[in-house]
Amino acid sequence: MEIFKFGGASVKDALGVKNFKRVLEKLEAKDVVIVISAMGKMTNAFEGLVRAYVDKDGHVEEHLTTIRNFHLDILDDLDFDQDDSIFESVEGIFSDLSNFLTKNNSTDYDYIYDQVVSKGEMLSTRICSAYLNRSGIRNNWLDVRKCIKTNSDFRRARVHWEATEKAIKTELKGKGITITQGFIGSDNYGRTTTLGREGSDYTAGIFAYCLEAATVSIFKDVPGVLNADPREFDETRLIEQISYKEAIEMAFYGASVIHPKTLQPLQRKSIPLRVRSFLDTDAKGTFVGSELDIVPKTSCYIVKKNQILISISDKEFHFVMENDISEIFRMLHELKLKVNLIQNSALSFSVCIEDNFNNFERLLQNLEPGYKVKYNKNLVLYTVRHFDEKAVDELEKGKELLLKQRSRETVQLIVKA
Ligand code: ASP
Ligand code: MG
Repeated sequence: MEIFKFGGASVKDALGVKNFKRVLEKLEAKDVVIVISAMGKMTNAFEGLVRAYVDKDGHVEEHLTTIRNFHLDILDDLDFDQDDSIFESVEGIFSDLSNFLTKNNSTDYDYIYDQVVSKGEMLSTRICSAYLNRSGIRNNWLDVRKCIKTNSDFRRARVHWEATEKAIKTELKGKGITITQGFIGSDNYGRTTTLGREGSDYTAGIFAYCLEAATVSIFKDVPGVLNADPREFDETRLIEQISYKEAIEMAFYGASVIHPKTLQPLQRKSIPLRVRSFLDTDAKGTFVGSELDIVPKTSCYIVKKNQILISISDKEFHFVMENDISEIFRMLHELKLKVNLIQNSALSFSVCIEDNFNNFERLLQNLEPGYKVKYNKNLVLYTVRHFDEKAVDELEKGKELLLKQRSRETVQLIVKA
């Protein structure tokens, strides 16, 4: 058994769906669970719909029409006959959605979000499955909510592993090609949940773990895991192989290639992962497995923007002690400010943070009575793994450096944007 995962970019239009079919033909996929995300940027579009609905801003119908037309245009471009049953299933999903929006009386944003946004994966899998069947690739469409059992923490649901494993084994008794949704699951009451943005990789990891799959392939629009983001660096190199541990470290520092939660279940059962191109299936891509040295041995660069560096000291020039640090961390935690780096010296304590929830002003107010605070906004944090001095010098050139920290394998720089 193998697991394939195709993300939104791979099925963003009719050409994408046709390419998806070609990939399966080329690889002669037989016993495979195929996990698919919502098409293109549809998850964002559904998020817009949820906002409009909750805010009652009068634009709900507009959002619905855009989303509906996007999918109908793809069906049109795929030349489905007007009487093909795919139209019925797609319209069925839209009428479920409309019913929900009309009848719902919950005000829980996260609950509403999951019921609505999950429709993106329902639509994409219906369309891909129907297109394969029509092209002679027989497959079973599976409602993943029968399999992925979670708690009721909407938008970041946690998996009930035992129940999920049992359900997956029951639902997937037969062999062949199964098409199912990434990102979504269901709670004990049968309500739809989601696993967090970009969660489809994680779904692939869950299936792999429960079925003890031979391999997982994540198909992407890049050739594999690169040593740097090509939008930020002119020259990038493909990583040919890497250990789970290294991939987890890179995800920790902010590399966005593999969803970090995906790696742990694979690592536990030593299931190899390939990150590969959906445009060039002959290319090897990146192989992730146990105890592998990184090949080629090259520096890896991770860039995080929009950082804030604050330096906190005592108003009376006392040392910043453990009790201060613990108080500062409590504030950071309560205000959901993400800490990316810390540095302590005798008289001040520096933290590099990310303000994803717009709470920085509140942090300043909370610190104000006890501490002297200096800060710089709009900074960039560079992390270089497996650095060599030359590469770091090169990176520093022409930049205004505010802080540098190094350990054996990793250098981090905070610079002005
Ligand atoms: N469609 C979801 C998202 O865009 C899940 C995924 O793509 O992995 O976040
Ligand atoms: Mg997506």
